[in-house]
Amino acid sequence: MTNLDGKALAAKIKKRVRGEASALPRRPGLAVVLVGNDPASRVYVTSKRKDCEECGFYSEEYALLEETTQAELIELVESLNKRENIDGILVQLPLPAHLDEDAVIGAIDPAKDVDGFHPMNAGNLLIGRPGFLPCTPAGIMDLLEEYGIETAGKRAVVVGRSNIVGKPMALLLLRGNATVTVCHSQTPDLGECCRQADILIAAVGRRGLITPNMVKTGAVVVDVAMNRDENGRLCGDVDYAAVCEKAAYLTPVPGGVGPMTRAALMENTLLAAKRRQNLA
Ligand code: NAP
Repeated sequence: MTNLDGKALAAKIKKRVRGEASALPRRPGLAVVLVGNDPASRVYVTSKRKDCEECGFYSEEYALLEETTQAELIELVESLNKRENIDGILVQLPLPAHLDEDAVIGAIDPAKDVDGFHPMNAGNLLIGRPGFLPCTPAGIMDLLEEYGIETAGKRAVVVGRSNIVGKPMALLLLRGNATVTVCHSQTPDLGECCRQADILIAAVGRRGLITPNMVKTGAVVVDVAMNRDENGRLCGDVDYAAVCEKAAYLTPVPGGVGPMTRAALMENTLLAAKRRQNLA
């Protein structure tokens, strides 16, 4: 079994991004907006700042109070839309319950939507036009490519159908000419579906969901999930130790998809900066 080492590839990508960014007339700029005190979100925002430093990007961080109003948040997004030196705007999700996520994402200029969540970018992905790809599925496609894993003609099964992971993942695999099945909480026999997969993507958020009897021998298994075990350690949906024995390729958690998501955000921000400087 080969480990799909996202950590190593992410480091390689960030090095390349840094080189390309330094050759631009103006360095890429990313604004990250955090509302409230969610500890996991804080960790993500800090890691994004570090990634920006590593890539030589300019970055700004806005830590807004939990009680920030919808109007205040939209006003901030609109002011960032107008800023010349800001190429990417990322509003960290989830937002506190009183805020309307769809409206906030919809307020971001699609040309600066480096998360790829704006309906315009989601639509462009659907119809195969250029835009921004959501970072997690884009990072997974990069990882498959790095290891020479063909998607064309393969049977791919995606477990999970969220707008940020499952659905765009399925569309990218389809774009890569795989035959794609999407499973979700109403799928009657998940094991039977998963066993068909040459490429199995688990994006649910339920520890131990994917057991070895659900995996075809020699399959490529990508574990997107970030769960915590009883000791607080990060783990995925896949029973890693047991599935190792059957899969040909498997992503570790941590060190698989997580770092690739972060690297893809840096790639999207570089792309936004190039496009805004008419260089892409
Ligand atoms: P989400 O919005 O909660 O979606 C979970 C999906 O799993 C839903 O489509 C749900 O089906 C499906 N599901 C739930 N129980 C199921 C079951 N028993 N069998 C089959 N499908 C089931 O989650 P998400 O935002 O896509 O994230 C999924 C996981 O990936 C989470 O652990 C999250 O932390 C992680 N994540 C990791 C990264 C990274 O960079 N590594 C990035 C994003 C997310 P229904 O639609 O029917 O409810």
